[in-house]
Amino acid sequence: MSHVFPRHCHSTQPVAVGGDGCFLIDADGKRYFDGSGGAAVSCLGHSNTRVTEAIKTQVDQLAFAHTGFFTSEPAEELADLLIKHAPGDLDRVYFVSGGSEAVESAIKLARQYHLENGEPQRRHLIARRQSYHGNTLGALAAGGNAWRRAQFSPLLTEVSHIAPCYEYAERAEDETLFDYGQRAAQELEDEILRLGADSVMAFIAEPVVGATLGAVPPVEGYYQRIREICDTYGVLLILDEVMCGMGRTGHLFACDAEGVAPDILCIAKGLGAGYQPIGAMLCTGEIYGRIADGTGFFQHGHTYLGHPVAAAAGLAVVREILENDLVAQVRARGVYLETQLRRRFAQHPHVGNIRGRGLFWGMEFVADRDSKRPFDPGLGIAGRLKKAAFANGLICYPMPGTRDGRHGDHVMLAPPFISSEAELDGALDSLEHAIVDVV
Ligand code: PLP
Repeated sequence: MSHVFPRHCHSTQPVAVGGDGCFLIDADGKRYFDGSGGAAVSCLGHSNTRVTEAIKTQVDQLAFAHTGFFTSEPAEELADLLIKHAPGDLDRVYFVSGGSEAVESAIKLARQYHLENGEPQRRHLIARRQSYHGNTLGALAAGGNAWRRAQFSPLLTEVSHIAPCYEYAERAEDETLFDYGQRAAQELEDEILRLGADSVMAFIAEPVVGATLGAVPPVEGYYQRIREICDTYGVLLILDEVMCGMGRTGHLFACDAEGVAPDILCIAKGLGAGYQPIGAMLCTGEIYGRIADGTGFFQHGHTYLGHPVAAAAGLAVVREILENDLVAQVRARGVYLETQLRRRFAQHPHVGNIRGRGLFWGMEFVADRDSKRPFDPGLGIAGRLKKAAFANGLICYPMPGTRDGRHGDHVMLAPPFISSEAELDGALDSLEHAIVDVV
C-alpha cells in the first residue's frame, strides 16, 4: 500500500520512470505525449541535457546558501537575464519556489509599497472571476474559481472579483471585439470607484487565462484600458504569467503582445520547465526603491528564496529559450497546431470554441453550439476526456465547466516548445479518438 497522499484518493496512477523529449514513460514502458506540459510546465520537454548538466554542476559546486546571508551567482545571472528581456520598467527579481509563492509575494509587496508610500488605507485587491492564482490562502482568495474556493471561504480575505475578458461567452452579438473589451475593462473602474478610489492597492489578472478557462486570450485594447485605469487611480497592476509566461504564447512574456507592462509580474512554470521548482516576482525600480528608501526590508520570505540549484536550472532554461529562438518556434508550431485543431474540430457539433495563442490552446465543449449551453457538469465530460486521452497516450489538461453554467467543460493543450509537427499530429489523433469516445 502506498503512503503517498495523492491528489485523488481513489485513483491508481502509473509510475513515471523516465522522460524522453516530449514523452513521459511509465514503469510498463508505455509512452505518453506530454500535450499539456503537465500544467504548462515542461516547455523544453523531459530530457534537456543543457538543463540537467547545469543542475549537476551547480549541485556539485554549491547546493544551498540561505539568502539571509548570501546571494549566489546563478540567481544574480538569472535576474540580470530576466530583467534584460522583461517588459517596461521591471527592474528587480524576487525568486521563490513556485507560482503561488510568486503571487503571495506580489500581493504582500503591493500592500507594503502603499504603506511605505504613505497610503496605508490602500488595502483592497481586485481580481477576476474564473481566474486561478494558486492554492495558498492569499493566492486562493485572489482566484475567482468558485469550486476551488468553496471549502475554504471562511479562511479567505475579501477580494473583489470582476468579469474576465472572455469574449466567446460574454460578448454581445452586436458588439465589436474592441467595444466588448472596453466594456469588460470598465468593470475595473466601476469597482475601484465603488470601493473608494484611494482604498484599492492592486488589480491582478492572467493576461491569457489558463487553469480555469483554458487558454483564453484578451481582446485587443482590453489591457491597454486596464493599464490606463490603474494609472488613473494609483492602483498597481499585477500580471500573473505563472502559466502563460516564458514563451508559452509566442512572446517571452504574454503581456508583450498587449503593449502593456505591469508594475509586478509573476512567473513560474516555464521558468524552471519542471527541472526544478522555481518562480519569480518581478517589480519596477519605483516599487523596489520605495521599500529600499523606506524600511529597507520587504516583510516576507521563504527558506528556499533564490535557491542556487533552482536558479541554475532557470538560467539554463532561459538561455535555451533565447539562444535557440524557441519563442519564434512556438509561434510557428502554434500556427500549425491552431490550423490542425480547427481543421479537425471546428465543425464538431459539441466544440463550442477553440482559442489560444502560441502553444497554449483550449477547446470548450458545449451541449448546444447555438445557445453555447454547457453540458451538465454531472456528466464529467472534461474528466472523462482526460482519462480517455491518457489511455491513448496523450496528457491533456481537463477543466470541468462551472455549475453556474458560465462556461463549459474544456481541455487545454500546452505541448513542449520542441514538439514536431508529426508529434502534434499524433497527439491530435489521440485527442480525436478520446472525443469520439466521450462527447
Ligand atoms: N497562477 C497561475 C496563473 C497558475 O496557473 C498557477 C498554477 O496553475 C498558479 C498561479 C499557482 O502556481 P503553483 O501551482 O506553482 O503554486
